[in-house]
Amino acid sequence: MKHLNQPKILFFYMIISFMICSCGGSHPSLTPPFQAEVISINLLNEPGGRTASIPFSLKKVTFKYLEKPETLSSRYFIFQSGGKAESDSNNTNLTRFYQLGVSDFYNHFKEKDNTLIPQDTFSLYATSCAYQFDLILQKIEEISGIHPDEILNKKGKFKIFFNVLSHTNNKKEKTGNAFYVSSFFSFVTTLPAKTEIVPLSANLRVIAHEYGHLIFDYLTTDFQDNSHIKEFKNDENNYIRGINEGFADLTSFTITGSTDIMGETFLVNDHDLNASLKIRNFSQSHFNDTNIKDHCNASYYCLGILFNHAYYQTLLSLGMDPNKESDRIKGYKLIVEAMKKTGKLIRSRGLMQGHFLRHFLRDLLDNISDSHFKSHLENHMKANFKNTLG
Ligand SMILES: [Zn+2]
Repeated sequence: MKHLNQPKILFFYMIISFMICSCGGSHPSLTPPFQAEVISINLLNEPGGRTASIPFSLKKVTFKYLEKPETLSSRYFIFQSGGKAESDSNNTNLTRFYQLGVSDFYNHFKEKDNTLIPQDTFSLYATSCAYQFDLILQKIEEISGIHPDEILNKKGKFKIFFNVLSHTNNKKEKTGNAFYVSSFFSFVTTLPAKTEIVPLSANLRVIAHEYGHLIFDYLTTDFQDNSHIKEFKNDENNYIRGINEGFADLTSFTITGSTDIMGETFLVNDHDLNASLKIRNFSQSHFNDTNIKDHCNASYYCLGILFNHAYYQTLLSLGMDPNKESDRIKGYKLIVEAMKKTGKLIRSRGLMQGHFLRHFLRDLLDNISDSHFKSHLENHMKANFKNTLG
């Protein structure tokens, strides 16, 4: 009897364990497109809109590209655990990234009414982050004319190193940032900061900004070794970084309609941080490149703000509505097209000496295909870059 019973018990144990595994694991009953409960931003055109002081909520969404929710992998991206990041003392530049202890991501969720419900904070944040990328990939062709397959065919899937441990070069722990790392064709999100209202990794404005860096990388360097851009001496390197930051904010603005990429991101009692981030709102900047140091700390971000301010003024002077998605897309497409042609020119010339920003802006303006848009943008660029273009 004993001999006969043992395999039976083993068999039942196997059934039970299979049932347990299928609850938190492979979900054979669910197939793409997956629905999930995630944290996401309320966009302007949604009911309730972006009127609340905290424009995020927990909502049921539908992924278009997610293939394996248990590892958060999709046709275009794959999540990774582990990794270690090192940033400069301001936490604005990623100086090093180590692929330490990297493994596939394990997402813990349950299924309820055909919807994936994340079972812990870590999984909720990760699934929310995955949704922001999914959403951007759903929109990128419409806004830029670039199909995500175009990038997939060149570079394969991009990786998302999620909630990475990060410290500065003097070993201070740093949280609350996100990076695009061109050399790894990856995105890195660091552990959330205590003052974040929602993690930056679940904030569409931030993730769309980072994805904008990937698009900029494609348009200007064609994902080639961009050392000839990095070799520019400091100030000129800052110029291209400035346009890169501006373009990243424009990508975010086109998708979300927000000119204040870092707005409503940190708790209001973090006054110093919020004041320093307020300047990123490019609809409201009141400086140009002759008095930039009086109004801004004159880092490359400030050049990006000038670039975007000129673009924003162009939309207004042409009677285009920044709150209207179709108008934002119209403008962004013109910039993308001109940026692609300008990128080709930069690459064909190789390392350029001096006056880099002037050449770049000149080429960009010359490559705007809509003459009306071009003449308005040129006037606003000249007002914002008096020193450079005046
Ligand atoms: Zn950036």
